[in-house]
Amino acid sequence: LTSPSKYDTARLQQLDRDHYFHPFTDHKALGEEGSRVITKAEGVYLEDSEGHRILDGMAGLWCVNVGYGRKELAEVAYQQMLELPYYNSFFKTAHPPAIELAKKLADLAPAHMNNVFFTGSGSESNDTVLRLTRHYWATKGQPDKNIIISRENAYHGSTVAGASLGGMKPMHKQGGLPIEGICHIQQPYWFGEGQDMSPEAFGIKAAQALDAKIQELGEDRVAAFIAEPFQGAGGVIIPPASYWPEIKKILAKYDILLVVDEVICGFGRTGEWFGSNYFDLQPDLMPIAKGLSSGYLPIGGVMISDRVMDVVNKGGDFNHGYTYSGHPAAAAVALANLEILENENIIQTVKEETGPYLQTRWAELGEHPLVGEARGVGMVGALELVKDKGTNARFDDKATAGALCRDFCFQNGLVMRATGDTMIISPPLVITRSEIDELIDKARLALDLTF
Ligand code: PLP
Repeated sequence: LTSPSKYDTARLQQLDRDHYFHPFTDHKALGEEGSRVITKAEGVYLEDSEGHRILDGMAGLWCVNVGYGRKELAEVAYQQMLELPYYNSFFKTAHPPAIELAKKLADLAPAHMNNVFFTGSGSESNDTVLRLTRHYWATKGQPDKNIIISRENAYHGSTVAGASLGGMKPMHKQGGLPIEGICHIQQPYWFGEGQDMSPEAFGIKAAQALDAKIQELGEDRVAAFIAEPFQGAGGVIIPPASYWPEIKKILAKYDILLVVDEVICGFGRTGEWFGSNYFDLQPDLMPIAKGLSSGYLPIGGVMISDRVMDVVNKGGDFNHGYTYSGHPAAAAVALANLEILENENIIQTVKEETGPYLQTRWAELGEHPLVGEARGVGMVGALELVKDKGTNARFDDKATAGALCRDFCFQNGLVMRATGDTMIISPPLVITRSEIDELIDKARLALDLTF
């Protein structure tokens, strides 16, 4: 315990059970255990309503890149709300925070991306992607070029278009998704799907699934290929080194847009500003969110290449927009957040110091008898749980294995997430070496004691 609590936990948990239907949660389960109520945070640590300190190994939902407790961001939001709390940029209006943020993003993004469409979240960004790709081809006189190819087990959000672009079967089951015009190819998940060949050979094979799908559908019907640089929510699936070069070769043969979903990778997660820099990709569209504001206020966007913008500029009104597109306070906070990332050299530190240190220590967990593979890049990592290290045989009930390990960590003061039996971390980019040591020690203890 770090401080006496001012909260009545039992009351909050009861109100929560009675009234609050949570995202991605079995509501009934709240009745049994009750939620853990998080009340404040500082640096990389959360505190719950009973005063327990928890190391946030997930940076919230992969978003609190600059860490918690940044008073300067609160101050910027406060000042902006006093000056202009809300206005939009519909119908030929604009305001300084959104304009300045657009300019800053154009400076930071790959050189050929100079425009941004603002949204309120990553999901809205991917809804925008769906409409923008189809609008692009229709404006070019090819309205039938409207199919988007994505990947199994991808995550692109929870709205109807986002979940359809995503490749998560449990999400598709609810609500009759995916919507028409979206299909999915194999993911580059060597540990899960490719161990009968080398990672390099598997990377080529998984990439060639794109070529096969384009040929099956016909080039003149495919609008775009969408992918995360590495799959985040799917389990920190980092493609074999052969994958992206092969995808690039395939895309170069066809006239198809590349959409790189940077919602997790963007703003430093890999030790570069964007995953596209890390994997040497030249996207046509780049959805962004999360680290854009470090989660302090909701904001997202789609970065647009000059090639796409030139066509869209010929298409008249783009009949699309959100009330909170480029919200002034969110945009002001995002701009200040980007300045923190720059002025404190946070991304460079991940690339040169703390990222390599995390990866060295994380790899040590790969020696554990219950870990089949430890992988990572920059400031993310994944552990594949196995019941037999010799054969990499996985637990019969993968979801329970992962949940047990996750729950042990949480009780012991570490947020580590489970995607089935893959344990994942994505801490704030400002985590220090000694905090990384604490994270590793707690993860190891969970492996030692959970099973
Ligand atoms: N795209 C990716 C790659 C994501 O990881 C997420 C969220 O985790 C989204 C899109 C959706 O973003 P949001 O939850 O802000 O709608």
